[in-house]
Amino acid sequence: MRVVLAFNEPALAVGELSARELNERHRKLAIGLARFGGHLDGLFFCPHVIDANCGCRIPGPGLYREIIRRFALEPADVLFLSASEEDCAGARAFSAPLLRIDPTAEERYDARSATGVCQSFMSAVDCILARADE
Ligand SMILES: [Zn+2]
Repeated sequence: MRVVLAFNEPALAVGELSARELNERHRKLAIGLARFGGHLDGLFFCPHVIDANCGCRIPGPGLYREIIRRFALEPADVLFLSASEEDCAGARAFSAPLLRIDPTAEERYDARSATGVCQSFMSAVDCILARADE
């Protein structure tokens, strides 16, 4: 199983965050994950401002397409996990399995289609790992 993180980072575009600072954050994230035996296979981000009209800003399809292309995947091979309904709408464009995190919603998960709503990130991880063990 590969794990990637995709996100928007408009602070780069407006100079509130430098590439060096972003790299340092990612380095710390990698160190923190490694403490628990985890890792990321990739970081994908849009460095543009909201109204830049770029193709890579989430929930647009650009980053999703890039992830699928980079790892030579089919959309059905990718499980999207997000707490943002807007971001989920972008993922739905690919008809890919989708887990949405919503602490206010009733938890439901269909292991066969790998879609559903989980109340917490940890619950979503449990669903993903249970599916991976099948
Ligand atoms: Zn962008």
